[in-house]
Amino acid sequence: KPKKERSESMTLLQSDEKPITRADVDEDFKQEIMDAGAESVAICFQCGTCTGACPSGRRTPYRIRGVVRRAVMGLKEDVISDDSIWMCTTCYECQERCPRGIKIVDIVKIIRNQAAQAGFMAQSHKMTGLFVTKTGHGVPINDATMALRKSVGLTELPPTTHQFPEALEEVQTIVKATGFDTLIGYNWETG
Ligand code: SF4
Ligand code: SF4
Repeated sequence: KPKKERSESMTLLQSDEKPITRADVDEDFKQEIMDAGAESVAICFQCGTCTGACPSGRRTPYRIRGVVRRAVMGLKEDVISDDSIWMCTTCYECQERCPRGIKIVDIVKIIRNQAAQAGFMAQSHKMTGLFVTKTGHGVPINDATMALRKSVGLTELPPTTHQFPEALEEVQTIVKATGFDTLIGYNWETG
């Protein structure tokens, strides 16, 4: 059965199509998710409004409703190893529309943090992390962008390390202190 159909099905299977057993449930992870959802997460009634609002889900196999469900059930290994969790753009469309007021994006962030710790970070996210570590910002600047910024009344350079190059050292200190450099495989010798 295609993953797209399965993840929207009310009969939930793990990503490898195996039935869920008690051994698949991680109670600590489940509690962390519950805490992030400020108890309201338990009253998700799987309406699918989040999936319907999700711009990423329209173009990818990512289905936030299924991710929330599996997270609430404590299926840690299954959900953190799911490649689709990296397709969320954290745009908050789902969260703004959830009739239960569930903090869906906080849940996604917890899942991603745990996924990164377990070595499942998507390559594209690692590349952004490498760029931030090397330059202090995530979006490259060019002449067209500078002209656009100027046309709307902004400074040509954004208030990042572009404008304050001395802040790069502070960014790199944070990267080292948090262990983010290890997660993305940053080499301080070669950059
Ligand atoms: Fe659950 Fe909210 Fe998504 Fe509905 S919109 S499925 S209540 S998380
Ligand atoms: Fe989809 Fe993520 Fe945006 Fe929610 S925050 S609508 S899950 S892309």
